Amino acid sequence: MSGIITRFPPSPTGYLHLGGARTAIFNWLYARRMKGRFVLRFEDTDIERSSKEYVDAILESLEWLGIDWDEGPYFQTQRFPVYRDYIQKLLDSGNAYYCTCPPERLDAMRQKAMATGGKPKYDGTCRNLGRPAGPGAAVRFKAPLTGTTVLDDAVKGGIVFQNEELDDFIICRSDGTPTYNFAVVVDDITMGINTIIRGDDHVMNTPKQIQLYKALGSPLPVFGHVPMVLGKDRTRLSKRHGATSVTAYREMGFLPEAMLNYLVRLGWSHGDQEFFTRQELVEVFNLDNIGRAAGVFDPEKLSALNADHIKATPPAMLINRLRPFMAARGVELAENSTNEKMIVSLAPRSKTLVEMADQALFYYQDEIAYDPDAARKFLTAEALPALNALTVRLEALQDYTEPALENAFKAVMAETGLKLGKIAQPVRVALSGRTASPGIFEITAIIGKEKTLRRLHRAIVHIEGK
Ligand code: GLU
Repeated sequence: MSGIITRFPPSPTGYLHLGGARTAIFNWLYARRMKGRFVLRFEDTDIERSSKEYVDAILESLEWLGIDWDEGPYFQTQRFPVYRDYIQKLLDSGNAYYCTCPPERLDAMRQKAMATGGKPKYDGTCRNLGRPAGPGAAVRFKAPLTGTTVLDDAVKGGIVFQNEELDDFIICRSDGTPTYNFAVVVDDITMGINTIIRGDDHVMNTPKQIQLYKALGSPLPVFGHVPMVLGKDRTRLSKRHGATSVTAYREMGFLPEAMLNYLVRLGWSHGDQEFFTRQELVEVFNLDNIGRAAGVFDPEKLSALNADHIKATPPAMLINRLRPFMAARGVELAENSTNEKMIVSLAPRSKTLVEMADQALFYYQDEIAYDPDAARKFLTAEALPALNALTVRLEALQDYTEPALENAFKAVMAETGLKLGKIAQPVRVALSGRTASPGIFEITAIIGKEKTLRRLHRAIVHIEGK
């Protein structure tokens, strides 16, 4: 075991979105690669916006992606005593002080700074007044006034912040609740986190956090700030670009392996390799190859990768993944030999599980529905001789296998003088209801003798009734 400990600390104020999922994946992969530990923690101090529903949804998304954690989930709302201890530590060591400045004064100061284009900063009124604890008193961190705070970022390189630009920020509000930057640092210190990979929207928080580590005498973790995920128009990925929640992609029929692979590649590279199994990623993921440029989310690329993962997934596993999609279409996939053959026939032609389920329906339905255009075009009087001849041949067939079926079709071709194309399309519509399907011998074999004959018969009746 290496000593690497990473974490994922979502705020349960929404579903797990693609950017958050990527952050979780990076931290998880790095912990797995390094044989370290991965901690899950919910930053739920924003009580108004946090909910159990979002906690559950995030857990479900992580589980779906195959991300497991070694510790947690912790909840910040259950850790207030720990934060109180650490506030006291900072007060005792002279690194924090009580501030009783009335909100109106602070507001006015903020307004004034904004009006003159300056950065709102606390003016330090209470910094050296030794105010006592009491109602209405907040606790501020006594930040260094001069010098610099340096972030040595694993992704972005060195970033220098001038301490004069920062101020004595509040670490504990007058109602006793800790502020965000403070709680994060206390958690990361007490949970032993030494590697923090997160979105670069947190870069501006980092100097404050670094100052807190220093004041608490704790070693700094490795920080790596990953550029945001962008949409094709190069603005930050949002609802305007389509679905952004992980769950939505599950429902659209993406495989978790494909999602994982795609999101990792959207910000990390390994030469020009695009396809990775989960295991490969665990073996090669590193921090060095996280890119400095923002990844652009491309739904078509994701679909293409999903198609590759569908092809690479063992049939038995794909059956399980497909099961809920079939159930949603009214078909319960029982354990039988049709399933595997169905998967083999459809895997090369499905970009998503939704496409696969739609294409798989005809194998299972008692009565298929004809696509109206397909029926109009191919279930015509012209097709009758072939359908009749095939019915006779198949009825007599003992060995109902693909090669035997191919011979039966050949015999029908010889008998009717029709080319395979002329026979195959009406048969395809008769058996599947559509003009596109896997190979005609293949589907005839998978559907089985009894059902095939029933469908041929129904097509004949359909034509005769026209
Ligand atoms: N809770 C923060 C978020 O969801 C993460 C903070 C962090 O990674 O330090 O953006």
